[in-house]
Amino acid sequence: TADIIDGKAFALGLRERVGKQAAAFTARTGRQPGLAVVLVGDDPASSVYVRSKGKATAAAGMQGFEHRLPAATSQADLIALVDTLNADPAVDGILVQLPLPGHIDERAIITRIDPDKDVDGFHPVNAGRLATGLDGFVPCTPLGCLMLLRHQLGDLSGKEAVVVGRSNIVGKPMAALLVKESCTVTVAHSRTHDLAGVIHRADIVVAAVGVPRLVKGEWIKPGAVVIDVGINRTEDGLVGDVDFDGAVSHTAAITPVPGGVGPMTIACLMRNTLVSACRREGVAYDANALG
Ligand code: NAD
Repeated sequence: TADIIDGKAFALGLRERVGKQAAAFTARTGRQPGLAVVLVGDDPASSVYVRSKGKATAAAGMQGFEHRLPAATSQADLIALVDTLNADPAVDGILVQLPLPGHIDERAIITRIDPDKDVDGFHPVNAGRLATGLDGFVPCTPLGCLMLLRHQLGDLSGKEAVVVGRSNIVGKPMAALLVKESCTVTVAHSRTHDLAGVIHRADIVVAAVGVPRLVKGEWIKPGAVVIDVGINRTEDGLVGDVDFDGAVSHTAAITPVPGGVGPMTIACLMRNTLVSACRREGVAYDANALG
């Protein structure tokens, strides 16, 4: 029978280890690592994410700076806030919650964030660092997926990996991480011919699509490990991009939705914020305990 990968438990453990190192950082420097979260408008889902990020920040012994701005905020005012946060020495990480209202150019905002405070890893400088093997910040969701894969499989070298989805936030950085781990990586997307056949080659499947239960059980090679990033609200509640019930008997291990990848995203945000604080202050950190 398949292992159900307990992302919730793994994330809790990671958050505890981050908390320990945050306490050591505070003892050493006399200040807590700081994370600024900016929300423009009152999208209910975004509001929930921002609140849980704030709670996690406090629980990890880090300082949260929450900026809730009205939906009508101008792009110039948002840029001015980003500039202020870039210059604030108490702020180690800056996260602007997406999506932004339509009158604001998301790219202009993301590229305005100091890449060395870009704990979401969305700045093109950090995408470039990931692609070329330099230290930077890796987007939290794919980083969390990689941690779960390493925990499950150990060395990933030589494995056949298929990433479904090519977004800048999940699919592309996921593929870059798996290349770095020496997997043989295929990126599938909406124009892929024969998705079933492509997925059937994979030892590792990462689904980041946003289509409920797109990936069927019989597409999966027996013994593969499946990471389901999808969060889809349906009549039956939250479901992933993988047909869990159909897939579970084919897999060696699979993440559930909810309780798989989701909790890892916030844990990795805490991790990235701690790492940013340590880098900025020249304080050593235990990278092994953070992976
Ligand atoms: P996106 O919409 O930006 O990208 C979706 C990708 O899927 C695209 O590259 C597209 O080419 C591909 N695609 C669409 N239809 C397809 C099809 N029929 N076959 C193959 N590929 C197809 O989405 P995203 O931001 O990458 O998010 C993907 C999913 O992951 C969503 O359900 C989202 O809610 C979820 N998500 C979860 C977390 C988390 O914390 N767990 C974080 C980010 C996103």
